[in-house]
Order: sequence, then C-alpha cells, then structure tokens
Amino acid sequence: MRYVEPHGHMVSRTTDDYQDMVTAGCAAVCEPAFWAGFDRGSVEGFRDYFRQLTEYEPARAAKYGLPHFCWLCINPKESEDVKLAEDVISIIPEFLDRPTVLGIGEIGLNKNSRNEVKVLERHVDLAARHNQLILVHTPHLEDKLKGTRLILDVLKNDSRIQPHRVLIDHVEEHTVKIVLERGHWAGMTLYPISKCTPARAVDILDVYGQDRLWMNSACDWGESVPLAIPRTALEMRRRGWSADAIDQVIYRNPIQFLRQAPKFAAKFGEGER
Ligand SMILES: [Zn+2]
Repeated sequence: MRYVEPHGHMVSRTTDDYQDMVTAGCAAVCEPAFWAGFDRGSVEGFRDYFRQLTEYEPARAAKYGLPHFCWLCINPKESEDVKLAEDVISIIPEFLDRPTVLGIGEIGLNKNSRNEVKVLERHVDLAARHNQLILVHTPHLEDKLKGTRLILDVLKNDSRIQPHRVLIDHVEEHTVKIVLERGHWAGMTLYPISKCTPARAVDILDVYGQDRLWMNSACDWGESVPLAIPRTALEMRRRGWSADAIDQVIYRNPIQFLRQAPKFAAKFGEGER
C-alpha cells in the first residue's frame, strides 16, 4: 500500500508516529497551520510556528525518509482578534518562497462569526495575490452546512480564485455535494469519534465516487489516529473496492491536487502514477 497524508498536524506527534506512517506506506505528509490548543499572544509566536513548520518539522520527517510539506495561515479559531490576524497575514509572504510551502491553509470558519469571515477574505486575497493553492477548514462546532455555504460564497465572490485550486476539508454527508458541484476538491477527515469515521467515509465514496476526493487523518493533539488513511483503505478493501480505486483515493488523488503547487510537482511530477 502507498498513500499520501495530505493533512496531518505532525508537530503534535512523536517520531514513533513518523516511523509507523512510513512503515504503512506513507509517501509524503502535508501539514496545515493550526491552532496550538491555546491562543498565541503575538505575531512573533506565529513567526516561530512558521519556522517550526518550514525548518524543523521537514528535517524531523526527513530522518524517516518522509517528504514534509506545509500550508500557512492564522487559524479561524484565532481570527476574532482581527488586528493580530492582519499582522500575521502580513508576515506570511516572508515564508511563501520556502521550498516546502504549498499554499494558504487551513483557513475557513469555526464559529461562522463576522470577524472570521473578514479574516477568511483577507486570506483568500493573500492566496490570489501570490497565486497560492488554498486549503479550507469547515466548522465542526456550529452549523457546518451554513459555514460551508459562507466559505463557498467568499471563494466565488473573488473572481481571481480558480475552484480546482481549492480543497474544502472536513466535508461530511451533507456538505460534500455542494463542494464538488462548485468545482472544488473535497477532503474527508477521519476521526475515531467526532468528524468522519472510516465507515462513513467509505459510504460517501460509495455515493459520490472517487474523483476530486481525498482522505486525511488530521492527527492533531486531540484524539486522532495517524494511521487512519491506511486503516480506511482496509475498510475499502473489505467492502470490495479494487486496489486501483483505493490507490486513486489515497495516493493519486492527493498528488493530482497538490501537484498544482510547483514545489510538490518537483517531487511528484507528471511521470508519477
Ligand atoms: Zn487540521
């Protein structure tokens, strides 16, 4: 088995997890910027975090032969302080040229508040100005459907954004269709308790097919399973999916989306199948 972990918060994991992932067939891991479990107090806290994501974590993964990429932003959970968010957004361009940065993410909404929408629009503008891919987080706490619709409208209202360069993550049964209909990619986050279980993810694949969909484990500091993707692949196999279709969902699909970033394409080029 081979797979790409397109959304893993590896700063929260031990090196044992890296070893297990590589042993299970992980070929690359991508880490979106996330909330640390507490609100950072200043823009310098984010500068250090972006250095961790672009310098330290790729070096740690490389010890296990695993390419590590990242996405940069201020997470929606910290977007209520608009001044801090604007300061953080202003330092992101310093990091965009670093060799493992894929784009802007995971941006989006948490409580669907007015300030969160304002900061989301600023991030979308940043991505458009710098021609970056976008990775979007959809809310778990409040109304996911309403939040997803708000996000889709922000993206649609910016004419510079090409839908196929945006992945909307944490989709569930009631949001996957509207995301795919808008021409975006959709991600299913596999969690043991909340979010999408492996069985639900395979149900969604059974209904919507395997195009423009990927799976990720998130594997953050909360209850989560770094091997959720290969375990879900076993569930697909059990339910009769072919080895080729499984390979498409867990390996070729993420590569097809991420390859739109030249830095990812340099490692996983067109010859890759
Ligand atoms: Zn995440």
